[in-house]
Amino acid sequence: MDLRLTSGQQRFILLLVSLLAVCVNAVALSRGVTTIYSHVFYIPIILASYWYNRRGVLFTAALSAGYLALVVVLAPDPAETLPEACARSGVFLVVSGVIATLASSLSRKEQRYRTIFEHIGSATAILDKKGRIRQANYEMETILGYPGSEMVGRKLTGFIADGERSRIANYLAGRMQGRGFVPAQCETLFVRRDGGCVDVLLTIAGAGENEGLVISFLDITEKKKVERSLQETRIFTESIIANVPVVVYSLDRSLRPTFISPKSRDLFGYGPGEFRDHPDLWEGIVHEDDRHARRHIIDRINEGRPYSVEERVVRKDGTVRWVHNSGSPTLDETGAVLRVDGSFTDITNRKEAEEEHSFLASIVESSDATIIGKTLDGTILSWNRGAERNTGYRADEAIGNHISMLVPEDRTGETEMILNTIRQGKRLEHFETQRVRKDGSIMDVSLTISPITNAAGRVIGASSIGRDITERKKAEAQLRSYARDLKLRNEELEQFAYVASHDLQEPLRMVASYVQLLKRRYEGRLDEDADEFIHYAVDGASRMQLLINDLLAFSRVSTRGKPFEETDTETLLGQTLRNLKIQIEESDALVTHDPLPVVMADTSQLSQVFQNLISNAIKFHGSDAPRVHVSAQQSGDEWVFSVKDNGIGIEQQYFDRIFVIFQRLHSKAEYAGTGIGLAICKRIIERHGGRIWVASEPGEGSTFFFTIPIREVGDHV
Ligand code: ADP
Repeated sequence: MDLRLTSGQQRFILLLVSLLAVCVNAVALSRGVTTIYSHVFYIPIILASYWYNRRGVLFTAALSAGYLALVVVLAPDPAETLPEACARSGVFLVVSGVIATLASSLSRKEQRYRTIFEHIGSATAILDKKGRIRQANYEMETILGYPGSEMVGRKLTGFIADGERSRIANYLAGRMQGRGFVPAQCETLFVRRDGGCVDVLLTIAGAGENEGLVISFLDITEKKKVERSLQETRIFTESIIANVPVVVYSLDRSLRPTFISPKSRDLFGYGPGEFRDHPDLWEGIVHEDDRHARRHIIDRINEGRPYSVEERVVRKDGTVRWVHNSGSPTLDETGAVLRVDGSFTDITNRKEAEEEHSFLASIVESSDATIIGKTLDGTILSWNRGAERNTGYRADEAIGNHISMLVPEDRTGETEMILNTIRQGKRLEHFETQRVRKDGSIMDVSLTISPITNAAGRVIGASSIGRDITERKKAEAQLRSYARDLKLRNEELEQFAYVASHDLQEPLRMVASYVQLLKRRYEGRLDEDADEFIHYAVDGASRMQLLINDLLAFSRVSTRGKPFEETDTETLLGQTLRNLKIQIEESDALVTHDPLPVVMADTSQLSQVFQNLISNAIKFHGSDAPRVHVSAQQSGDEWVFSVKDNGIGIEQQYFDRIFVIFQRLHSKAEYAGTGIGLAICKRIIERHGGRIWVASEPGEGSTFFFTIPIREVGDHV
């Protein structure tokens, strides 16, 4: 509560007290009582001197004069002598002067203090011991928006935001109890009269022992805003650093890492802490072959220039990665390096792609083939060394020209056909054509042309790989001519064999019948030699007949072959065994078989194969009775038949020979035969597109295998 009096109140009180003093003294003097009542004058004198200072002394003088007048007029002698009254008035003036001087000095001090309080520059308030505001300056009124009268008497905590109130109340209470005047600071939030909030920095100091507190505060709303925005920027930066796929780093002036972003764990396998704890790691991770790159970086930093290098680093797990290391130094005012900021980017994938690309490029370059890249309209884009060698054009002569420069005049339509195929995204494989060299000569080429697509899958050009097949073409033409000759000769030979065996039959039949006639008529009628000669002649003639018949049968395999038809080999085997009934019975043979398939074959020829093989299997038996087993298994796109016996077997060195016409391993006396059976089998099987071979060991029996390709009815043979 402000106890200060207004000037009107002061004047009224002073007048009242003065009148009272005059009246009291007038009464006292008139009754002869003096001194004691004159002391009453001290009251208005003190008040006047205190309130009005020098003007108060004048008032005292006037009052003293009044007192003297009272003494003279009213006092009966010797109540107060005039000298005594003058001395008293002098005392009045001295007291008044002293009080006026003290009051004036006090008032100046207070004025100074008020000026400081109001113009201190920060909002300030004085709190009483209960935390109530005793005084608040203009600055505080401005910041909080309340007039001083509305603040005085209220608790300071009443102006603090809800969430902060109890914290600050405790804080103030603590300060209130605390001794000493050391100011303390804290940040808090005030609520303005208009409801808005103000961030403030509160400074609290003790006002004196048991005197409450002086608080002052600065509006730090702007500073807080800046702090918040800095904080946001920091979070933003940290989140970027944590998420961008690069490792960010800072080095101090001695190029030791002071910061490295957490992504270092992904890239190097080492976390930021490991770099901090082991500064040598910074250099240590660089691949030993790339240490020179670091020296280059140091040179650039010392020159105060940015750097950018590609180097290999060895990760914690020993694997090697390629990185792009770039950064720049910050210099101080003297030009010395203050710090360096930079980043690592993983470029391993790009490097690998580059290596692969250069590897492929070197393959293309070193290839013997003509490898050309061209656009969709046929403009040549690339030309390898093979193209230079094979066409005679240098790369600089070809690149930029149209591909038709290589196309002979009679094939000009081909270029558009090829480009159209490529535009449709199709490939052209082993396209055989001709191209013209720079010297005008023509070469045979085999081209494989593929579309080139961009990342979006759109066809943007073509690659053409060409092989010079001039030599091969020549060789093929020669081969064809040989084959033609061979076929012709073969046909002639077959014809000859057929004609010879056919035409020889007639005269041979005559020779045979006459020598037999000779034998019938003259055997035993001439001498012994004649009988023997006749016997040889008969035998020779019949053997020659057999041979000629076999030869005829052999030549007929291809000349008299029938079209292939569905043939049930199991039925066919049955018929064959019926044909061989006598041989089987005579030799006590047992022929067994597995289920056998239906194949496309010349039935009578296949029957011949079965007959020859089974007949041989029985004929070439050993000491045991012949056991023959026929089976068939599918293997891929063919049937593999086998005829297995328990006969005498064959030595491996004869495996091929036995299939040659008239080749036998035994004399006629040992085993009858002409040596043509297997040759006929081979010829028949080859006519069917199959193979025939034998597996055997002497004394262990033999197994003859032959294959018949699986064909559908109507398949082209
Ligand atoms: P041939 O039976 O008329 O002698 P082949 O051409 O049928 O003529 O046979 C040629 C030779 O192959 C036979 O003389 C024989 O030495 C041998 N040979 C063929 N089949 C068998 C077999 N199953 N066991 C042992 N040797 C065989």
